[in-house]
Amino acid sequence: MNPLVIDSFAFCRLGEHREGVIAVADLPRLEEDTADGSGELHWVLQGGTDQLGHARLDLQVKGKVQLMCQRCLTAFAFEIDSTSSLILAKAEVEIEGIDAILEDEGVDVILGSAVMDVLELIEDEALLALPLAPKHDVCPDPEDLERLKATAKPSPFAALKNLKSM
Ligand SMILES: [Zn+2]
Repeated sequence: MNPLVIDSFAFCRLGEHREGVIAVADLPRLEEDTADGSGELHWVLQGGTDQLGHARLDLQVKGKVQLMCQRCLTAFAFEIDSTSSLILAKAEVEIEGIDAILEDEGVDVILGSAVMDVLELIEDEALLALPLAPKHDVCPDPEDLERLKATAKPSPFAALKNLKSM
């Protein structure tokens, strides 16, 4: 997987736009937090400038991943649909100052870079969207699960029984 690198300040100044699809399996930290690493994320990155002239990235990440329910320990589908605005500081020391001026909880200030890894931003965004303790709203009935398993994988003994009765 090639890293997707942008000059974040130029990207914002020029109002550039990029989007793409990335497999969960290509994002190791996210993959680790999912049940099976399946699924893919659609992402959109838009550069721009905020009212005070700061470079600003708007990132949207959407897609379905499989999470492990911590109550019944089976996988369930979770829809990631997350958007965030990132203001780019030119230096580490500016971050707090900009944060204080903006007074906007919906905006994050991060250190901008001429070699910013977009995949890392996407992965961070997806990770933040995951619930801390993933759980079904209502866990499936354990008996239903057993029945599901039984129909999915017929036991060799059942097959043997059918053979005998023939
Ligand atoms: Zn559950």
